[in-house]
Amino acid sequence: MANLLGGKGAGLAEMTRMELPVPPGFTITTEACRAYLEHGREPDRLADEITREWDRFETEVHKRFGADRPLLVAVRSGAEISMPGMMDTVLNVGLGDEAVLRLAEWSGDERFAWDAYSRFVRSFGETVLRLPEQLFQEAETRVCDAFGAGRKNVLDAAQLKVLTSAYQEVVNAETGEGIPGDPRRQLDLAVRAVFDSWNGERARAYRRREDISEDLGTAVNVCLMVFGNLGPDSGTGVAFTRDPATGAPGAYGDYLQRAVGEDIVAGIRNTVPLAELERLDPASYARLRANLRALEAHYRDMCDIEFTVERGTLWMLQTRIGERGAEATFRIASDLVDEGVITPDEALGRGTGERLARLLFPRFAESGTDRPAARGVAASPGAAVGQIVFDSRKAVERREDGRHVVLVRPQTRPEDLPGMLASVGLLTTSGGKTSHAAVVARGLGIPCVCGADQLDLDVEGGVLTLPDGTRLRDGDFVSLDGSTGDVYAGRIPLVPSPVARDFVAPAPESGQSPAQQDAETVHDEAVRDEAVVRAVRRALDWADGHRRLRVRANADTPDEAVQARRLGAEGIGLCRTEHMFLGDRQPIVERLILAETPAERGTALAELLTVQREDFRGILRAMDGLPVVVRLLDPPLHEFLPDLTELSVRHATGDYRGEDRHHLQRVLDAVRRTHEQNPMLGLRGVRLGLTVPGLYANQVRALAEAAAGLKAEGLDPRPEIMVPLVGDVSELRLVKQEAEQVLAEVRLATGTAVDCPVGTMIELPRAALTAGDLAAEAAFFSFGTNDLTQTTWGFSRDDVEGSFFPAYLEHKIFAVSPFQTIDPAVGSLITTALAGGRAARPGLETGVCGEHGGDPESIRFFDRARLDYVSCSPFRVPVARLEAGRAVV
Ligand code: ADP
Ligand code: MG
Ligand code: MG
Repeated sequence: MANLLGGKGAGLAEMTRMELPVPPGFTITTEACRAYLEHGREPDRLADEITREWDRFETEVHKRFGADRPLLVAVRSGAEISMPGMMDTVLNVGLGDEAVLRLAEWSGDERFAWDAYSRFVRSFGETVLRLPEQLFQEAETRVCDAFGAGRKNVLDAAQLKVLTSAYQEVVNAETGEGIPGDPRRQLDLAVRAVFDSWNGERARAYRRREDISEDLGTAVNVCLMVFGNLGPDSGTGVAFTRDPATGAPGAYGDYLQRAVGEDIVAGIRNTVPLAELERLDPASYARLRANLRALEAHYRDMCDIEFTVERGTLWMLQTRIGERGAEATFRIASDLVDEGVITPDEALGRGTGERLARLLFPRFAESGTDRPAARGVAASPGAAVGQIVFDSRKAVERREDGRHVVLVRPQTRPEDLPGMLASVGLLTTSGGKTSHAAVVARGLGIPCVCGADQLDLDVEGGVLTLPDGTRLRDGDFVSLDGSTGDVYAGRIPLVPSPVARDFVAPAPESGQSPAQQDAETVHDEAVRDEAVVRAVRRALDWADGHRRLRVRANADTPDEAVQARRLGAEGIGLCRTEHMFLGDRQPIVERLILAETPAERGTALAELLTVQREDFRGILRAMDGLPVVVRLLDPPLHEFLPDLTELSVRHATGDYRGEDRHHLQRVLDAVRRTHEQNPMLGLRGVRLGLTVPGLYANQVRALAEAAAGLKAEGLDPRPEIMVPLVGDVSELRLVKQEAEQVLAEVRLATGTAVDCPVGTMIELPRAALTAGDLAAEAAFFSFGTNDLTQTTWGFSRDDVEGSFFPAYLEHKIFAVSPFQTIDPAVGSLITTALAGGRAARPGLETGVCGEHGGDPESIRFFDRARLDYVSCSPFRVPVARLEAGRAVV
């Protein structure tokens, strides 16, 4: 019923049905609020219905509590989706010059009554009548000063009466009339104020951030006031049925004796741990524990509640399924299975891949993380601490000096890659979740906060200015949390991820506690770590038991392959070979491109063959017994040559840097020759293979020789060759013929037969539409969804982010970037290709490589399309395993 009653109203109704002690009251539905917001006035029947409910309420209160209890109510907001503290609540509605006297009489505590009345006048003035807070604050200061009191908490009853009058004068002066004395009239105004608070600034901002629909509206809960500030046997608190940070069982929470809820929020006094209530009021504590157990059994999940104890009587004011951290998500789900409350399938439904991703990286120690200096987009999870550098080249130098650096840029570009690799974290001031920095960081498993636009970055001046004016320079420390988007000045201590450690060393050794540390803390930490490690392992086991999709990794180096395997990768779905042509190998590639004679070309190719063979050996060895799909060279040639502008300048200014003039001229000519207006749609992929003689054959030879060598050693290498950017079957056929010839030559030369299927990428609409033809030649399909998205939409992924994507998201042309979650049209090209391919070649193996392979929403689609596997960056492998399991249950 939450959509009609709001979350709070539904919780109150549910607790009432369970016969838990809830103060009597009634709920005005979200429907009434929506009508009010639409027409600008309350619906016609509302007043009558409220009167009817109020009469019923009055009868009930008098029956339960006797006729002398004043009818004071809390008028509380509560939307379908919890928006804690974002809308208004008016307490003590019903108070007036008469009622305050009855309240004093009923409670036998005059000070309490005037305290309540003064609070009421002020909050009604501020919240309902929208008078400026400052006027009340000034009145309060005047009264306190007159009585020589530092703050209003020390005022006695008579003085609080004066304070109430001072507040009333503010209301009178500002509105020309006082607060209406009629409780029913007060109620109407308070209800309207709560309706209006749906469109308050705070609420709107919160909805934008949390993506909550604008047209839900709020319900209004009218609820008898109970008082936590009546004496030492009263108090108020919040409780969780389990620890919301770690998930550990047992009640957790805070309690404040002799107080009302707003005192907790205001932070005027320090709360005590909930366990303290056990000492103060064992009976209420026992009842609370019983209620928490009942709620957990009822909701079959961890709950949080607000409660008040009024003179030894416990009242439940609110409950809902509790918010929790990533660690608690898995721990609680796993424990609830052990307790027989939920099934493993349900548990699998509860822990998302995004939450798992957060547990794979170090996090900040709990102390010291209270005030982030700024917040950006949480682009790639994990916490990082390092020294600021503003430039990629410097990042590399510092890294070589053994320092931890955080690269801070307005945004990153492909040429920043070495600097990004050298950094422990990335921080950009513009761009969103699919900006270059974000995509690359996720791929590399580097924590990243991007689009932190509250930061003022002056790259030239080398200064990063925080919103509070702090100026950070090159070498200063910064800490960032890519799971939350938080940025902090200085160094915050990091706690390593026990889950990640578990992947490295699957059988954890019993922890040896460092002698200098408090034995108990170490023990607690160890227990906590063990619990989360076990919970994550179980979640992955359940997922692995269900999933239809296999999960491979995109890995380009032996190191990445080793890592991917530890994280559970069942092979490599994409091994990009361009990395083998960069760095210290670039001069060889340059020589190949510049070669003027077959002999020159032959020498360059021979050199390339050797280095590639070594790379392939390492990768195949790490993935022994599992498939390794190697993509033949894909990027346009100019990416292996110096930048045209830079080179032209050097040429014009005679800056030869030790090279001879003739050579520079040749390079420049080659760069001009290979320069393209639109390289994304230019000479790349299979087109390279068909125009640069010997290039692909060379790659195939290196792979085949590496595999043959390993096989001779008794290993089980499983290489596969993947041809990129194919649009027509004849392109594939030509490359395949060449590859098969090389494979045969290697077989003959080495005497070892290596099976090496040749397949194709599907990353052009034309390929998808002619998939039947392609499947006649291709042993497998791998959907390159990044390029397929680019070519379907005609977007350049590297350029759209900063230009028109924000507007597209704003106009809701799409809700998320199509580079993050598979676009429906791209999806239908995939289904078309699958149908064509499978018809032509039954049993055709199909997979996805590309960012989408690690995206939960897309994984669901790939599962439904019955692909054989997804392939994603090594760090996303556990996430993909989990999500592939979740897609099935
Ligand atoms: P929010 O959704 O912002 O938490 P609530 O409606 O829960 O707003 O009200 C805020 C606070 O008002 C509560 O935490 C509690 O301290 C107090 N409150 C709400 N209802 C009552 C009540 N019936 N009696 C006493 N205090 C109440
Ligand atoms: Mg509340
Ligand atoms: Mg591609």
